[in-house]
Amino acid sequence: MTHAHTLPSEIQLHHLSTTTADTARELLEDADREASQHNLSAAALIHAQAAQLIGIRLPASGELALCTCQGCYCSTVHDAAKSRCYLDGTVEFVQCETCADEHRIYSD
Ligand SMILES: [Zn+2]
Ligand SMILES: [Zn+2]
Repeated sequence: MTHAHTLPSEIQLHHLSTTTADTARELLEDADREASQHNLSAAALIHAQAAQLIGIRLPASGELALCTCQGCYCSTVHDAAKSRCYLDGTVEFVQCETCADEHRIYSD
């Protein structure tokens, strides 16, 4: 890994233009779809593409996740390895590290 260390490790989508944010969301959804079909190299490629698009460095895990926390709607794209997931009914939500620290939500 020889990534520049000047790039942030996470970013909130609302700090980006709507077009970039929408594209990033789509890329992350595509990556999830590929991963669920066990196309892990395709998923990894898409994560790298998304990181480059939104100007953050690709985490060591190689995977990004979008914070879907219902407590604040921060929409932070972050290192998937640091995500905390919870279930609301049957729907899975993701909290970024900051959300999990500040207002952790537990599955019901
Ligand atoms: Zn968050
Ligand atoms: Zn939150």
